Amino acid sequence: MDQSEHETCIFCKIAHQQISAKMVYEDDQIVAFPDLKPVAPVHLLVIPKKHIARLSDVMDADQVIIGRMLAVATALAKEQGIPDFRTVINCGPGAGQTVFHLHLHLLGGRPFHWPPG
Ligand code: 5GP
Ligand code: ZN
Repeated sequence: MDQSEHETCIFCKIAHQQISAKMVYEDDQIVAFPDLKPVAPVHLLVIPKKHIARLSDVMDADQVIIGRMLAVATALAKEQGIPDFRTVINCGPGAGQTVFHLHLHLLGGRPFHWPPG
């Protein structure tokens, strides 16, 4: 990783509390907080503390983080009272990724359609 990339990354700043966010979960590897522009009644972002730009950059040694992110999202869905929920990881600009620090969207509280737009 380029050092300057890390220094300018908004989610690194949130993960390391250089920018305040209302944390709903934190452990040694992961934090979760509400999306700034929610698109559903519940819209949380679950991110690794470690800077990984996108899902396709996850290396073998970090693969366990993906499982933990999904486990945290599932626990948060239960906590937030959304038995039906959607998890989304956009990978790359063409898929809608706008923040290049790996994050999982946890969405719930309204019906979702398939296929997504
Ligand atoms: P993406 O489009 O990359 O999958 O999702 C990025 C998400 O991050 C968007 O839903 C956007 O609203 C959210 N976001 C961007 N900047 C901030 C921020 O500074 N704080 C929070 N809490 N969410 C942000
Ligand atoms: Zn970052």
